[in-house]
Amino acid sequence: MPVWPRQPQARVYFGAVGKNQTMLVLPFKMKLAWDKRRTIEKFSIHEKAHDSAARCFARIADAYDDKQRAELGIDLFGGCLNVRPMRGGSEYSMHAWGIAIDFDPERNQLKWDKRRARLARPDAETFWTIWEDEGWTSLGRTRDFDWMHVEATRGR
Ligand SMILES: [Zn+2]
Repeated sequence: MPVWPRQPQARVYFGAVGKNQTMLVLPFKMKLAWDKRRTIEKFSIHEKAHDSAARCFARIADAYDDKQRAELGIDLFGGCLNVRPMRGGSEYSMHAWGIAIDFDPERNQLKWDKRRARLARPDAETFWTIWEDEGWTSLGRTRDFDWMHVEATRGR
């Protein structure tokens, strides 16, 4: 399992924001969350996070069939690389390094807690365990907000 940095060390570990990117080829097609008629087969991610994320997606493909992925919303890509500050802050978002991935933002809105977020339900347990096995952090599971989001850090 990779040992990811904590958020403040992201720049030291991953380098300059928006750099060192590569394409992750998905084992299943995803829909763009903001334009569901469009599907993607790959997306841009940091080189150091690529192999780990690829292992996670392979396990997700094994654990959930097409129908289950659609029910859970993990076939909806909400973004990975996006060079921008954290919402409400001046620090960069982990998306700025392409080390965070969002799923189904509509049903997992930023401020929603486990009572409302789709990915807080029991059928998402395996999905989160897969990411956690690779050392990734879910803000939903650790801090009960932003349930759309998973990142290659050990948290704050
Ligand atoms: Zn995010």
